[in-house]
Amino acid sequence: MSRKPIIAGNWKMNMLSSDAKSLFEGIKSHWSETSATVMPQVIIAPTFTSLWAVSSVKCSCGCGCDKIAIAGQNCHWESSGAYTGEISVEMLADAGCSYVIIGHSERRQYFSETDEMINKKAKSILSKGLIPIICCGETLEQRESGITDSWISGQIRAALDGISSEDIAKSVIAYEPIWAIGTGKTCDADEANRVIAMIRSVVKEVAGESASNSIRILYGGSVKPETIAEQMSKSDIDGALVGGASLKVDSFNKIIENTMTVMVN
Ligand code: PEP
Repeated sequence: MSRKPIIAGNWKMNMLSSDAKSLFEGIKSHWSETSATVMPQVIIAPTFTSLWAVSSVKCSCGCGCDKIAIAGQNCHWESSGAYTGEISVEMLADAGCSYVIIGHSERRQYFSETDEMINKKAKSILSKGLIPIICCGETLEQRESGITDSWISGQIRAALDGISSEDIAKSVIAYEPIWAIGTGKTCDADEANRVIAMIRSVVKEVAGESASNSIRILYGGSVKPETIAEQMSKSDIDGALVGGASLKVDSFNKIIENTMTVMVN
């Protein structure tokens, strides 16, 4: 079973639209001559206010490919209405998004997002034809008390509750140990692979073997150009969700390049 790898950059609350557009152009131009078939699927999640600027320069390679897709960093599950400060999936699609990150630990921690909300968001995203990137991960305290697997399997079961196997197969999960996000501490690649294989076994129980073989499960947490090749060489890691290292054109392009080295071997 071969799954197309994904390298996704989460720009979080960084950059005004002119800088976001320049960074996007720097990534796009670097890969303009490269065939999409040898590349991972690249996804960029800018701030909401930069979505239009970025999508206006998205793909002009003329071949109809979508080497660089755009993601929202969050969404509301309703289509419209009195939800001040929120953004709907339709609005993200209108601004050029085909993916939406949901359940990032920063949203869970600072904005009190619950598993139930994440499940509603996932259903809304899939019903509009976009793809959710569902984040999960444990704190250091949870890891040290030995509950990593049960915690993460609970997050995944809740996020996928009531979603069809077909839709689960198209979805993306990002395993992001919270203690590794923005800290410079990367999870050992074998351990990340073990947890991701465990997540895949949960998907198998929930949605069957075909969905568990198709779903892409990424690792996130201080991914750098120097770490990606080892991470990508593991059996169950299908790519990376990258925060800090996605904010510099050279480091993000190097992560893509090092991923491709593993893909051809
Ligand atoms: C993230 O925010 O999803 C992330 C993984 O950040 P960083 O790469 O900076 O650890």
